[in-house]
Amino acid sequence: MKRHLTFPNPMLVVVSGPSGVGKSTIVAELARRHPQVVPIVTATTRQRRPGEEIGVHYHFLEPAAFADLRDSGGLLEWAEVHGNAYGTPVDQVRGILAAGRDAILTIDPQGARAVRQLVPDAVLIFLMPPSLEVLDARLTGRGSESERERALRRHNAAAEIAASDDYDHVLVNETGQASEVAELIWEVVQAEARRDPPRQVRI
Ligand code: 5GP
Repeated sequence: MKRHLTFPNPMLVVVSGPSGVGKSTIVAELARRHPQVVPIVTATTRQRRPGEEIGVHYHFLEPAAFADLRDSGGLLEWAEVHGNAYGTPVDQVRGILAAGRDAILTIDPQGARAVRQLVPDAVLIFLMPPSLEVLDARLTGRGSESERERALRRHNAAAEIAASDDYDHVLVNETGQASEVAELIWEVVQAEARRDPPRQVRI
């Protein structure tokens, strides 16, 4: 038996997809079921929404603090998403991989593209909505954006879906199937961690 079948490599996993597809829900479910997978808490300049906790949902930073972190090389990638800045703290990712666990990033498609360039052996997963109509209904249902913001997110979704071929895996996030989709991602991660030749995640 090959050594990496017994000692799988820690993976850097990116879960991306259009706004409202359910990335956060699926990743939270995955981490709850499989503590081997650790979600990265990213940084943002966006205002905190009711119910969001500092350091749990995001590191909420003032624009100047975000710029300092970015300019000092503290972010693996960063992007402007729907008018706010978001970025992935690189130290967090390194720490999780060094501990032999899988780091999972829930980021927008610009971020996924940046990670592909920087870390070619990262595993990129695209979460696809069952349809644009369902995506629209989910965005409206969560009620956290204004009609104007929703229109922008809808507009971006079509282009993001068109670019889903660039991902290693495309999974449809069927309504009411969070556990099943989380398990599918877990199967993908396990298979990728045992791939031959192994993925070499260097950050
Ligand atoms: P929201 O404001 O709705 O929480 O997130 C907006 C979008 O930003 C979502 O698609 C979310 O996945 C993405 N996002 C969150 N953190 C990061 C990050 O560190 N980098 C990038 N590129 N996108 C992020």
